[in-house]
Order: sequence, then structure tokens, then C-alpha cells
Amino acid sequence: MFLVGLTGGIASGKSTVAAVFRELGCPVVDADQIARQIVEPDSPAYWAIVRSFGEEILLEDKKINREKLGNIIFTDVEKRQLLNSITHPEIHKAMLKQIFKYFIQGYRYVILDVPLLFETNKLARFMKHTVVVYCDPQAQLTRLMKRNSLTQAEAERRIGAQMPLEQKRKLANHVIDNSGDSVSTYRQVCKLHSQLEDSLDFLAVRLLAVVTLTGIGGLLCILIKRCIF
Ligand code: ADP
Repeated sequence: MFLVGLTGGIASGKSTVAAVFRELGCPVVDADQIARQIVEPDSPAYWAIVRSFGEEILLEDKKINREKLGNIIFTDVEKRQLLNSITHPEIHKAMLKQIFKYFIQGYRYVILDVPLLFETNKLARFMKHTVVVYCDPQAQLTRLMKRNSLTQAEAERRIGAQMPLEQKRKLANHVIDNSGDSVSTYRQVCKLHSQLEDSLDFLAVRLLAVVTLTGIGGLLCILIKRCIF
């Protein structure tokens, strides 16, 4: 099995492309969804955040007020690092669990849907392939304004706060151009899916697993024989 990192810019169409991959039967690990799950009330990360940021970070129903937390870490680098040190290990653990499950199920590749794949760079080095969902600046602006009911200035500010999509495009192995209609995007995803399915990259990890399991099995046999005789 091998890992494929999927990323993009805000409203460039990453979720739309991830949905097509799912439709084609590919497992998709969603980093954003996991980031929300690991801070659910009573989880270890939840209590660590409450200890570090105080109860004023909670909503009335005791869930974490993500917007308030987001505003705090937006301006305070130390607090951002503190929050990352709490959440990142938990996110990575949960992602690994899902990846392992898909490996056992025999999938050839797993899509990791990570919005900040290139910005954080921690995960990018584990990806065999990286895919950027690109769309032209005008389409991105229009779609963001429509989806989030934003003014042009608000939408431009959100896009401007991110790594430029052009830069991400240069860093990726594959680009899905979502500037056109959904049919054109669907076709590109199907083509990439066939390419990834046909790739023999999955063999390396399977071979490693077989060698490791054979080694452990052999070692156990030796130990059992010694205990019996
Ligand atoms: P992201 O996950 O990158 O933020 P989305 O997949 O949510 O982006 O797409 C942003 C918005 O643009 C959504 O409202 C979506 O329905 C719309 N959209 C995505 N792709 C297209 C397309 N090819 N044509 C028209 N609208 C699109």
C-alpha cells in the first residue's frame, strides 16, 4: 500500500475531488474530520486543551469553541504551538489507525485529505504521491464567495492568508484542474485513479510486511522449540 496526499486551496475543490475518489471506492482519511473528532468532550486532547486554555474556551454544551480557539491561536504563536503540541500527536495517531485498517483490508493506496499538507510539511514526506486540486483565481474567488456567503474583500482576505495555489501546484506530483465543470474534474480523477491503481508502488510495503511477519513467525518457532525441548 502507499499514501497519496490530497490538498488544495480554500474552495479550490478538494472536498469535491475527495468525494469522487470515495465514489470510485478509494479509502479517504480526512484530516479535518479527525481534528474535530479528537477534541470531542472527554477525550485526552479535550482535557489537555481545557487545562491549557481554561474553561472559557468551552461552549455552553461543554464542547470546545473552535472559533474562539482559532482566534486566540491566530495572533499568538506560542499558544498555536501549544495547541499543535496537544492535537498533532492525537491526529497522527488516529490517522495511522485508519491507514492500518485500510492496509489490512488490502487497499492498494489510501488518500490522505490534508488541507495544510505543504504548509506543515510533517506529513508530506510520507506521501508517495501528492495531488493538488487547482482552480483559476477567478473561479476560486467566485465559488468561495458563493459557498461561504462572503463579500469579495472577505473572500480575498481568506485566500490571501494561505500559501498561494500556484506554489502548491508546483510542489505536487499531480494536478487536478477544477477550473472547468464537474464532468471535466470527474474525468481527471478517474484517469488519476486508474494510474494509481496500476502503479506497482503498493508492492514495497506489502513485501516489507511479509518479510517482517515471516521473521517474527520464525523467531516464535525457534523460541517455542527451545521451550518444549
Ligand atoms: P474545498 O474543499 O477545496 O474548500 P469545495 O470542494 O467545497 O472546495 O468546493 C468549493 C465550492 O465550489 C463548493 O460550493 C462546490 O460545490 C463548488 N464547486 C466545486 N467544484 C466545482 C466545479 N467544477 N464547478 C462549479 N462549482 C464547483
